[in-house]
Amino acid sequence: MPEKKDSYIKKQIQLKGIPAAPGIVIGKVHIFGTEVIMPSDYDITEAEIPREVDRLNEALKKTRKELLEIERKISREMGVEHGKIFSAHLLVLEDTVLLNEVIARLKKKKKNIGFVFTEVLNRYISALSEAKDEYLRDRISDITDVGKRVLKNLIGRKERSLEDLDEKAIVIAYDLAPSDTAMMHKGRVMGFATDIGGRTSHTAIMAKSLEIPAVVGLESVTDVVKNGDQVIIDGIHGVVIVNPTKRFLEKYAKEKAKYEGIERELTELKLLPGETLDGKKVTVAGNIELPEDVASVISHGAEGIGLYRTEYFYMNRTDLPSEEEQFNAYKSVAMRIKPNFVVVRTLDLGGDKFLSQLDVPKEMNPFLGWRAIRFCLARPDIFRMHLRAMLRASAYGHIKIMYPMISGISEFRQANELLEEVKRELREEGLPFDENIPVGAMIEVPSAAITSDILAKEAAFFSIGTNDLIQYSLAVDRVNEKIAYLYEPAHPAVLSLIKMVIDNGHKENIPVALCGEMAGDIALTIILLGLGLDEFSTSPIAVPEIKKVIRSVKYSDAQKIAEEALTFNTGKEVREYSKKKLIQLVPDLAIELL
Ligand code: PEP
Ligand code: MG
Repeated sequence: MPEKKDSYIKKQIQLKGIPAAPGIVIGKVHIFGTEVIMPSDYDITEAEIPREVDRLNEALKKTRKELLEIERKISREMGVEHGKIFSAHLLVLEDTVLLNEVIARLKKKKKNIGFVFTEVLNRYISALSEAKDEYLRDRISDITDVGKRVLKNLIGRKERSLEDLDEKAIVIAYDLAPSDTAMMHKGRVMGFATDIGGRTSHTAIMAKSLEIPAVVGLESVTDVVKNGDQVIIDGIHGVVIVNPTKRFLEKYAKEKAKYEGIERELTELKLLPGETLDGKKVTVAGNIELPEDVASVISHGAEGIGLYRTEYFYMNRTDLPSEEEQFNAYKSVAMRIKPNFVVVRTLDLGGDKFLSQLDVPKEMNPFLGWRAIRFCLARPDIFRMHLRAMLRASAYGHIKIMYPMISGISEFRQANELLEEVKRELREEGLPFDENIPVGAMIEVPSAAITSDILAKEAAFFSIGTNDLIQYSLAVDRVNEKIAYLYEPAHPAVLSLIKMVIDNGHKENIPVALCGEMAGDIALTIILLGLGLDEFSTSPIAVPEIKKVIRSVKYSDAQKIAEEALTFNTGKEVREYSKKKLIQLVPDLAIELL
């Protein structure tokens, strides 16, 4: 018998967490940054207070410089939307409430600044950890990140970075700050897993963007691994296996090869159109919020932009964007996506999206209130400028205009009257625009779905906004976690409304798109296809998968499946049936669903 060198028998441990970025990797553990910085605790005299304040200001200055550098690097390498995460970090450094509290405490307690700063920061963090809102809780890691940097600069400790990792490894940490993740070298960090963190944390968002497989929220992974241990990270299902047995290693090596095969195929799909096996063409488009998102639409092979949410352009600023500014943004999107189309949706303010500069009064039921087209029709000054910018940009590409929250034909006509006036104005001024610009209606209010036969006679196209259509038809607030279990896209009532809209659109020969999150839900793609949907518009990352499903089935089969789906009584049954069909017809993609 061979002699056992290591008396320590490694036991396989399997942990379940939250999948943060997809992919499977197998490698050796590198434990990162579990050290807690504890500044020393000593008394100071009254005369030493100014010196401590200077030390704090110096540390804040240094931290600001570091964060600006990271922000620039990330904006350059990953896009400005990721760089912006660090703008939020920079704001922590300017948080006067926090800093005034530190100074006040310093004067009162007469302790060294590092100690006082840590105390105040910890109080902030513990208050946030009690917040009910998941988003607020996820922000703890941002504040901890900034706080740690300030402390390191206060006590002069050199920063350790994941950039310096000298061999390929899987990083295991209690938590990773967004700035740690941002500095990861994709060639070295094969994957990572953390004890804490949520799905919407910036660390998770960034991991996805960097395409580094990751699992977060494992609670105790740092307790069970040692440097050098072997681990499997399954970022698809949120599983981490420490010291896997031979059987598990073989199983996961196969899963990994399968997953990578699918990924390769999805990449190749970029250049192919959305077309079923029996030749029905379906457009697969992408949704954007900011002009810089066009890059992702193009890189994922979308065939146009089915929804450009213009309200984000108005957010996070103190003034309203001018006509010129808007014109330049819409023009740049139209030119970049050319010869493909972009559906520019008019301002959808209200609901959960508010603009501070407009001082809109608080309402009891904002989702049922002064929102979207209702707001625009009441504020023609803002709406006209918005429409002028879109029309002028239409001279440079293929722009379509779409009105959100239309509840009936009168609103659609009213908006069009204003549009016609603006067109007349532009003609008089000699400014060019597309005279045949298509104008469509978003169908996201049940009354619009039910009267879609009337709307179809005057709209150039429909786009079904299921995010809202579901919340309004099922009376389920789309942002309320407590009732999220009732928010079911496959509910028979929702399917019936979608079918009604598609049929009514087709009777008048207008195309019908769907631009809510449901368009990216692969479990339901075959049903939507079978109902006759002409266009899916989804977050760019889902485009290849949706194309893959469309290209793997016959339209005639999808029609039969949709017909059958309409006979079920509950959303659960519809979803189960639809998943079963997907697994049968597109088995490769089933890995995502199991
Ligand atoms: C929708 O409601 O489905 C939609 C796409 O619009 P938003 O999510 O911006 O309300
Ligand atoms: Mg909507």
